[in-house]
Amino acid sequence: MSPEKAEERAQAERRQYQAAWEKYRVYSAWYWLPSITFVPGVFFFGWLLSFFLNAGLAHGLVAFGWMALRMIGGQGYAQFRCPRCGSKFFAGKGFQTVFTNKSLNCGLPTYARDSTDRNQEDVF
Ligand SMILES: [Zn+2]
Repeated sequence: MSPEKAEERAQAERRQYQAAWEKYRVYSAWYWLPSITFVPGVFFFGWLLSFFLNAGLAHGLVAFGWMALRMIGGQGYAQFRCPRCGSKFFAGKGFQTVFTNKSLNCGLPTYARDSTDRNQEDVF
């Protein structure tokens, strides 16, 4: 392969990774924001809605809606595919966790610029 062709291919890969991490960033927000804000959010919006409805029903409705949002919004995150190996980023052999910053299949760190990028320190 000519050096120009190789460079072209490397650039295409970097663009592809960049696009994948953009998606990852959005999915991540849709997963973590509703997760972290669940308790204060349900208290606050339940309290607001309780001016119009029975307090128990109001809080129940808000909690249900919040969980649905978290479940639907979080799907993209939980199902996110690693740009290098194409497997689910958060699913290893026989287990799943979102508390990782690298692909559980190939070890690609999050926000890696390309398939050879193993250093997380210099990507930020
Ligand atoms: Zn991978």
